[in-house]
Amino acid sequence: MTIHRNLIGGAPAGEDGRPNINPSDTTDVVGLYARATADDARAACAAARAAFPAWSRSGPMQRHTILKTAAAEIAARKDELGTLLAREEGKTRAEGIGEALRASQIMEFFAGEALRLTGDLVPSVRPGVEVAVTREPVGVVGVITPWNFPIAIPAWKLAPALCYGNTVVFKPAELVPGSAWALVDILHRAGLPDGVLNLVMGTGAEVGQVLLDSPDVDALTFTGSVPTGRRAAAACAQHMRKMQLEMGGKNPLVVLDDADLETAVECAVNGAFYSTGQRCTASSRLIVTAGIHDAFVAAVVERLRGLTVDHALKEGTHIGPVVDERQLAGDLSYIDLGRQEGAHLAFGGERLDRATPGFYLQPALFTECSNTMRICREEIFGPVAAVIRVRDYDEALAVANDTPFGLSAGICTTALKHATHFRRNARAGMVMVNLPTAGVDFHVPFGGCKGSSYGPREQGRYAAEFFTTVKTAYLAA
Ligand code: ADP
Repeated sequence: MTIHRNLIGGAPAGEDGRPNINPSDTTDVVGLYARATADDARAACAAARAAFPAWSRSGPMQRHTILKTAAAEIAARKDELGTLLAREEGKTRAEGIGEALRASQIMEFFAGEALRLTGDLVPSVRPGVEVAVTREPVGVVGVITPWNFPIAIPAWKLAPALCYGNTVVFKPAELVPGSAWALVDILHRAGLPDGVLNLVMGTGAEVGQVLLDSPDVDALTFTGSVPTGRRAAAACAQHMRKMQLEMGGKNPLVVLDDADLETAVECAVNGAFYSTGQRCTASSRLIVTAGIHDAFVAAVVERLRGLTVDHALKEGTHIGPVVDERQLAGDLSYIDLGRQEGAHLAFGGERLDRATPGFYLQPALFTECSNTMRICREEIFGPVAAVIRVRDYDEALAVANDTPFGLSAGICTTALKHATHFRRNARAGMVMVNLPTAGVDFHVPFGGCKGSSYGPREQGRYAAEFFTTVKTAYLAA
């Protein structure tokens, strides 16, 4: 098997190829991917620093053309890239293809943004003086990504970074180097000058840590767990470096008595369990008013019975495996904990055997939960949801907001007054009405409040806040 190597200063680097294992079938090696060392990561930071002056002065047409070329190649190869993604991460093939297409759309969007960058020219309060307000690239951007969206999250960080004239050192999650490698290969061949985009595949502790510690990194964009996010924040504060952190969620989906039952069940099942529940926007708390509670639980259990958990590439699979053994063990220990805390396991929660050896888990639905239980406070990041019964809308809103997180919050209701009140009062970066908490557009901002996010929003034109810095110039004639 050929080794897929890192990319440092435009040159392939690294010989130490590690197998990328398919979580649907652990006998299937997706490919060999080089593991970077700390020295490789330092070399990548230096290469990005060296490439910055020229790239920061490159014209918008060059950046537009490169991003557009990459978008077109990703779209043309969406089936192949989506299959690779599903094979290394475990989401279904359809979800993988959808995600590859999303990466293409993001590239296309930022190809356009490269040509739309504007500034302001305003008269000064001092006669004879003009003020120009412009946006400039920040410098070298460190990009650290998680395994759950192996191509979309890298795309929504790399595309704006490059669009606005920054250079990049990119460290993807260890479990999913394949999608990251393919994306970097496409961007590199689309015409990026050497050193503008550097890829270092490896562990967080070794390679990621270099990005946190390097004085060459001017801005850090990170998506991952809360503990690593905290560590990244501390390192960024130490360096007085710009940061953008996307971390966990414990997203509520409120279901009111007046909800359309079918819509509510669809939102809950999709939001909580699709992509194996491994989405930071997953609906892990289903907050249901008493009048609809029993009918809702019965209908969700019925829907869960009809879902097929199997190999991600198999036709008819609704839910693929958990990403790896460690994550599966974590999910199972939370399921045990839920039982110990007194919640009722209404469905699933057991490890499953399939034709191929993989990390299969029957989606778990807990009922009779209290919002104080750890299964309702901590992010599990698996196909596990907890139903919390409440009296009325007011209690539902209070419970929804009673969490350290604030990424996405949903409500299913046919009452305009509740929908409007919830939209205004849910403490979350994203609010969904009669829609799953997960599943977002690519051209509008993404992010949360409280413990979920820190720093400017990602995606859409709001991405410019993080990936550029503002200069105010005063000119006397
Ligand atoms: P998860 O538990 O979901 O893997 P992590 O926060 O551990 O979440 O991982 C998210 C990303 O952060 C991954 O790319 C991982 O390698 C990276 N990472 C983990 N530890 C560190 C660290 N000490 N410094 C920098 N990056 C890290």
